[in-house]
Amino acid sequence: MKKCNLCPLRKTCKQVVPGEGPPDAHILILGEGPGKDEDEEGRPFIGRSGQFLRTQLRSIEKYGIYITNTVRCRPPDNRDPNPVETDACWPWTQETLERIKPKVIVTLGRPALSVVAYKFEIKIPAGGFVDKVAGKRIYVEKRHFFLFPCVHPAFALRRREMKKLFITHMRYLAMALPGWLERA
Ligand code: URA
Repeated sequence: MKKCNLCPLRKTCKQVVPGEGPPDAHILILGEGPGKDEDEEGRPFIGRSGQFLRTQLRSIEKYGIYITNTVRCRPPDNRDPNPVETDACWPWTQETLERIKPKVIVTLGRPALSVVAYKFEIKIPAGGFVDKVAGKRIYVEKRHFFLFPCVHPAFALRRREMKKLFITHMRYLAMALPGWLERA
């Protein structure tokens, strides 16, 4: 992965940021892409939004959490990764999914949900992401996992009502998780 050049992002980032977490994790967190701090350190979600995310995940850490991104190289100027880039990086995501076999995939933000929905042919309700999709769990029968789309923690930190929503969704996840793990 360190030598990957499947898309042009590798030319502008400092380093590839691989995922991290236990190999038997039940939960996989899929973010967008590394930011400035992650690009410097080579670890996912260690900047401000990452710290907020990790605090919210503390109560479910015991189930094993693997954290990664839809693209592993920082998009210039912290822009969202585009579909060509998330598609190019998908082999790495797929390899991770096959290795970890998570029972729950939490997508953070729209690019992560879009690529997972597209690759697994999951129908997403039409309409606003926040109203229709975030915080609603989708059981993916063919693949035996729960998909739990959430807003991105960086977005949550920019708006008070989104922060409240994100925290509510994380609490719901913690409460519902034991039941989902039994079923998936
Ligand atoms: N935002 C992301 O989506 N991923 C990171 O690793 C850091 C910030």
